[in-house]
Amino acid sequence: MQDKKRMEELRKLINRYDYSYYVQGVSEISDFEYDNLMKELEALEEKHPEWPVPEDSPTQRVSGQPTRNFPTVRHRFPMLSLANSYDENDFSDFDKRVRGLLGEEAVVEYVAELKIDGLAISLLYEKGYFKRGATRGDGAMGDDITPNLRTIRAIPLKARGDGLPDEFEVRGEVYLPRGEFERINAARAERGEELFMNPRNVAAGTLKIQDAREVASRRLSMFCYGLYGPESFLEKSHYKNLKKMEELGFPVNPHYHLCKNIQDVLDYVRRWEEERSGLGYDIDGVVVKVNDLEQQKLLGNTAKSPRWAIAYKFRAMQAETVIREITWQVGRTGTVTPVAELEPVWLAGTRVSRATLHNIDEIKRKDIRVGDTVLVEKGGDIIPKVVEVLMEKRPPGVPPTEAPLECPSCHTRLVRSGDEVALRCPNENCPEQVVRRIEHFVDRKALDMAGFGISLVEALVRAGKVKNFADIYRLREEDIAGLDRMGEKSAANVIAGIEASKKQPLYKLIHALGIPFVGINAARELVKHFYSLDQLMAAGEEELTAIEGIGPRMAGSIVDYFKKPAIREMIAAMKEAGVNMHAKPPAAEEGPLKGKVVVLTGTLPGLSREQAREMLEKAGARVTGSVSSKTDYVLAGEKAGSKLKKAQQLGIPVIDEQAFLQMLS
Ligand code: NAD
Repeated sequence: MQDKKRMEELRKLINRYDYSYYVQGVSEISDFEYDNLMKELEALEEKHPEWPVPEDSPTQRVSGQPTRNFPTVRHRFPMLSLANSYDENDFSDFDKRVRGLLGEEAVVEYVAELKIDGLAISLLYEKGYFKRGATRGDGAMGDDITPNLRTIRAIPLKARGDGLPDEFEVRGEVYLPRGEFERINAARAERGEELFMNPRNVAAGTLKIQDAREVASRRLSMFCYGLYGPESFLEKSHYKNLKKMEELGFPVNPHYHLCKNIQDVLDYVRRWEEERSGLGYDIDGVVVKVNDLEQQKLLGNTAKSPRWAIAYKFRAMQAETVIREITWQVGRTGTVTPVAELEPVWLAGTRVSRATLHNIDEIKRKDIRVGDTVLVEKGGDIIPKVVEVLMEKRPPGVPPTEAPLECPSCHTRLVRSGDEVALRCPNENCPEQVVRRIEHFVDRKALDMAGFGISLVEALVRAGKVKNFADIYRLREEDIAGLDRMGEKSAANVIAGIEASKKQPLYKLIHALGIPFVGINAARELVKHFYSLDQLMAAGEEELTAIEGIGPRMAGSIVDYFKKPAIREMIAAMKEAGVNMHAKPPAAEEGPLKGKVVVLTGTLPGLSREQAREMLEKAGARVTGSVSSKTDYVLAGEKAGSKLKKAQQLGIPVIDEQAFLQMLS
């Protein structure tokens, strides 16, 4: 039972990370941690063959999905992912498995290539002309992004040579060179815009832009690594196909290498793990493929990846640099965190000039001081951190780092509550906190107010024009024009952005409020249960914790937040200004329970809570969190507590799983 629960949990977690990574372009955890979760799930599924693996389990499919913004196309051959490993020893297992399947006498050669950290793309050529280019999507279907790909100079619009077949396909990786990444970020910094995290994110975002001219300005590039077409056109080995692609005029990464055995592969991997920072683009590992195409065919694929290839992924990369200064930053909830201002270095594809130091305890434990030479590390595109101080390089006489006593912004005495390690500025009107809160509120992921950059937020707060969210809706053009080098036109844009934000969905508003511990995913969950902000404000802790994914800490935080008079006042003013505070309840489905209000409580013998909820909603019922006179039924299982009692008090019919299933039939 333990395992079953864990499997469900893992599937949910991985799906969530996939959504963030592939749809929103953010990594909530490092690739290493993500891949470990996936391995854990694979192992559990293997351990329990008695439980059929659901078709939509993350282990069964290539992650990612086509978007609705471009025409969807079906790939001629599925575009798969690659089995991956962080452990060199897995190469010999891979080699053994390959030989086991091909037979002892088979001679196996491998091709090792750099694993370019970009996005997989398929290019279709007809009679030698580039006809269609698509993203991988979910492996079977992808986005047709031909106009965007046509802007990439590295992609030939016509292949070289004569006698080309009617149709062939080339696959490869679109990436953003580091120099371009730097150039784009420098321009953004100048305009006061938020900087991009890493080249891969920019490449992913750029390919989804609807305006090809904008795409062209980003100067993406490509390396090709796969050729598909009629057998008469293809060579007999992958190595020769790479050569052939070069002859056809496709950009092939020059560092591919034919390996006679696994030792050759290991040498290649070690060399590039050392030398990767010298490349002009990011790689996140090495891909090893069986060279002979006949052998590849014999080995075949699993649902997700070919059996003839494996990706070795590099672990987080480290670099040495010097701490110039330690600054203390005030966050939107008042926590004051130390940040190391570094001598800039290239690390895992990004130019790093700052690293988090977490808290003063961490600084003391590692004895980090200004002037120290330190090792910084980055995993995936997670914020870099300081791993250790190279003590032998410490200049003489540098004093130990002390925590500040006062808030660096408003000079209020800092507090440390209970067993928390973090320092906090208790002044809710602290200008820095206000700036951070507003910045979060107007952010793309929250209410998405166009033109509202950080420097404008700072200027408005400094000028005393914005103290809370409601003030934003009171702004007029003349309040903005003149501030932060804003002309009339940009001021009008900002006002238009504020106006448009009033129509944002409720979950974004909830996220934008910045209630401690309530992120965008929790906000999404909340609007499935509360269809207006008023309903959420009226909810008690018990009602909140009944919702899956909402724990006592989050529930307590929500209740505390809405209790504050200043918050209630602010929300009333926003409502007055016309900010949307409603969500559409899911349309009631036709069914035997149409229009009924049902509360779920306790553990049902045969159904999980989510299953029961789904069945109820399918049958037309609305599932709510708390029992009231409006409740039609309480579906109760084992260990039902206060809700059952309340139902009995109010005389509301209580049904068990069996009765429920009978109602459905
Ligand atoms: P992958 O990145 O591990 O490997 C497959 C891809 O490698 C191919 O699709 C291709 O695009 C690319 N590639 C680059 N060079 C290549 C070459 N020379 N030959 C062949 N392919 C080459 O797998 P994926 O399916 O693209 O992505 C899954 C991975 O993404 C996960 O393993 C994880 O590390 C990461 N991920 C991370 C998060 C997170 O939250 N951190 C979430 C989802 C996925």
